Amino acid sequence: MVTFKGTKVVSGIAIGRLFVYMHPDKHISRAKIEDVQAELDTFNEARCRAIRQLEDLYTSSVEYLGELNASIFVAQEMLLEDDQYIKFVEKQITESNYNAAYAVALASDEFSRIFASIEDKYMKSHVADVRDVSERLLRILCGAEAEMIEPGEPCIFASDDFNAGDIVMFNRENVLGFATMFGSPVSHASILAGTMGLPSVVGLGQEMLSIYDGRLAIINGIKGELIIDPDKRTLERMKRKQKEYEEQQRMLLLLKGKNNVTKSGAYINVYANIGSVEGVETALAYDAGGIGLFRSEFIYMESMTYPTEDEQFLIYKEVLEKMRGRKVIIRTLDLGTDKQASYFRPEKEINPALGYRAIRISLAQPGIFKTQLRALYRASVYGNLDIMFPLIISVDEVITIKKIIKEVTNELDAEGIPHRKETRLGIMIETPAAVMISDELAKHVDFFSIGTNDLTQYTLAIDRQNPKLETYFNSLHPALLKMIRMTVENAHKAGIPVDICGEAAADLNHTKDFIRLGVDALSVSPNMVLPLRKKIRELE
Ligand code: PEP
Ligand code: MG
Repeated sequence: MVTFKGTKVVSGIAIGRLFVYMHPDKHISRAKIEDVQAELDTFNEARCRAIRQLEDLYTSSVEYLGELNASIFVAQEMLLEDDQYIKFVEKQITESNYNAAYAVALASDEFSRIFASIEDKYMKSHVADVRDVSERLLRILCGAEAEMIEPGEPCIFASDDFNAGDIVMFNRENVLGFATMFGSPVSHASILAGTMGLPSVVGLGQEMLSIYDGRLAIINGIKGELIIDPDKRTLERMKRKQKEYEEQQRMLLLLKGKNNVTKSGAYINVYANIGSVEGVETALAYDAGGIGLFRSEFIYMESMTYPTEDEQFLIYKEVLEKMRGRKVIIRTLDLGTDKQASYFRPEKEINPALGYRAIRISLAQPGIFKTQLRALYRASVYGNLDIMFPLIISVDEVITIKKIIKEVTNELDAEGIPHRKETRLGIMIETPAAVMISDELAKHVDFFSIGTNDLTQYTLAIDRQNPKLETYFNSLHPALLKMIRMTVENAHKAGIPVDICGEAAADLNHTKDFIRLGVDALSVSPNMVLPLRKKIRELE
């Protein structure tokens, strides 16, 4: 028996024979070319071929994956048509006389680096898109497009790495789960595996080689392991675990449509945190009561330049319409520190977490802020919108925000554009300053949302990005619990509700504390909505 440890992607247990598929080696050498035009033509022919392949993948997968999931291939196609990507490759060919394959490999590195430098899980998934698309191009350019002969029985599919295209090409009935030597849990291949509900692990390391092809294996997606040649005891244990897990999943789904109410009748709202229109579908699939945090900065981070008012309006409108009257809290731009957009280049700062970020950018660059507010107010008539402002430290900031909102709504009135004047305005409580003056702030806004991620960082003086300090990053430190209590008391005195939308909201060990403290709603990642509901319903 051999056990490989990796990173879990999709929970669950899969037991079956291993089917190993290694992508053929493609050797990319750097060559100096003489005929620039011929090389540009080679690149463009490969690009067109890759676009046709992606179109076929979309058509063949849209029916069973659904429009949203299959749109991965549309996004990848767009990247192949993206001016910046094409120009980058063409520049390497025309100015450095590099061969097309090497130029594409450079583009892959450069664009992956840009996305990877953004310390955000969602944005990191774009690294996978860039890699997938470049990989597809490279295989065409290097003549390494091997056909895969699928097994005729259900198997665990293992590979060096899968891309989203591989995942949808497999006959679903034959796939029990996925295991890869490399790969990222936030790649689109992983996201698709999640959509299919197939137990998956990535990052098992170099050793997981073809020698294990055809052997009995177990994916333990709960722990992130691949076990090969399990002994009898392990096999029996894992079969029991598999049954237990499937039973648990069935039970969780039975909670759809049920209330988030404790045994003694205390009720708490459970909302979802999302960062894109796609997130709405997942939030609804898990029956979230609303969107407690829409991180609008993701729209800016995905864009090649500042998103226009119309682009933003269409996104907000779609989110509101899809949520059909359920609450949607959209937070205004929270760029800065770990969340950067390639076109937004503030001066380098020694302490960016204490620097030019979030509402500070919006207030210093009112043009950007007003564009977003106009888009939000225009969308407000399509659903139940609340607007929230990040990183507040003073009442003055709130007063200035309201003044700008007045200007924006006056302009919309003058232009005869409909909007909901009574749109509720709230603030994030994520600085100790905001906690300490929460009694004053509560008089000026309609709700609070506690951002425990930043509140922990600023209270404990622990950088939330520093993995070395991970063990000290305790969002439930007694100081934090006292701060939550103070915020709730001050909010309720002023008659306004308080949510928690930081990661701590999903910590089931503290659900009871949050309810006892009087928190009105918890907003968590969509997949935590039903486990949280289960926890609440079990509490006395
Ligand atoms: C927080 O700080 O807790 C929060 C929810 O905001 P973000 O994680 O986006 O900074
Ligand atoms: Mg924050």
